[in-house]
Amino acid sequence: MHDIKAALTEVKQTIAAAAKAVGRAPRHVTLIAVSKSFGVDEIRPALEAGHRDFGENRVQEAMAKWPDLRRDYPDIVLHLIGPLQTNKVPEAVALFDVIHSVDRLKLAHKLKAEMEKTGKSTGLFVQVNTGEEDQKAGVFPTDADDFIHQCRDEIGLVVEGLMCLPPLEDAPAPHFALLAKIAARNGVKNLSMGMSADYQAAIRLGATHVRIGTAIFGARKPH
Ligand SMILES: *Cc1c(COP(=O)(O)O)cnc(C)c1O
Repeated sequence: MHDIKAALTEVKQTIAAAAKAVGRAPRHVTLIAVSKSFGVDEIRPALEAGHRDFGENRVQEAMAKWPDLRRDYPDIVLHLIGPLQTNKVPEAVALFDVIHSVDRLKLAHKLKAEMEKTGKSTGLFVQVNTGEEDQKAGVFPTDADDFIHQCRDEIGLVVEGLMCLPPLEDAPAPHFALLAKIAARNGVKNLSMGMSADYQAAIRLGATHVRIGTAIFGARKPH
């Protein structure tokens, strides 16, 4: 059987080494263990090993798994890393601590309204479609400055970070560098970038949050 605890330890060591290699403190890189498609039997070993940050890409799937786990581990930090439909905003705000996929004004307005209504505040990252792919969520790089400005100054949201998901066929580093540049010129602090195949490159380019599934949990089950 795939040893999730051992894989988690190895990923953490690799993160620490990648951070130190560029003079960064490993604690400034948050490892989000992406547990989409996996069940509580795979998630529990990671929790037992002391891990607390997890990522899911579907609200519905997360709602089926996490409320129970949270009762046992109240300090879990849950990240939504997939696209969010506006009709799922109430559920998403209730369940998630951080949403990495803010990419439309309508969604930003809904999030603001929901947080005001419930008093729950959720960390928000703006997703940037750095590869300008039609099928992919995220604002285009050329629209990112305006979008961040509108989120902050017109809607009154705190933009905690930016997120990107480079095209599969591209070298990821230029996408990470572009995201870092957009964040720097807008004074945005956090960068959610890097997955199993490329998180070391992402850390070199400033990632504060890496989203890693396969390297921890093994190959995903069909969704
Ligand atoms: C699935 C997913 C990941 C994790 O991918 P791995 O290659 O399994 O590490 C990271 N980010 C997003 C947005 C994902 O959907």
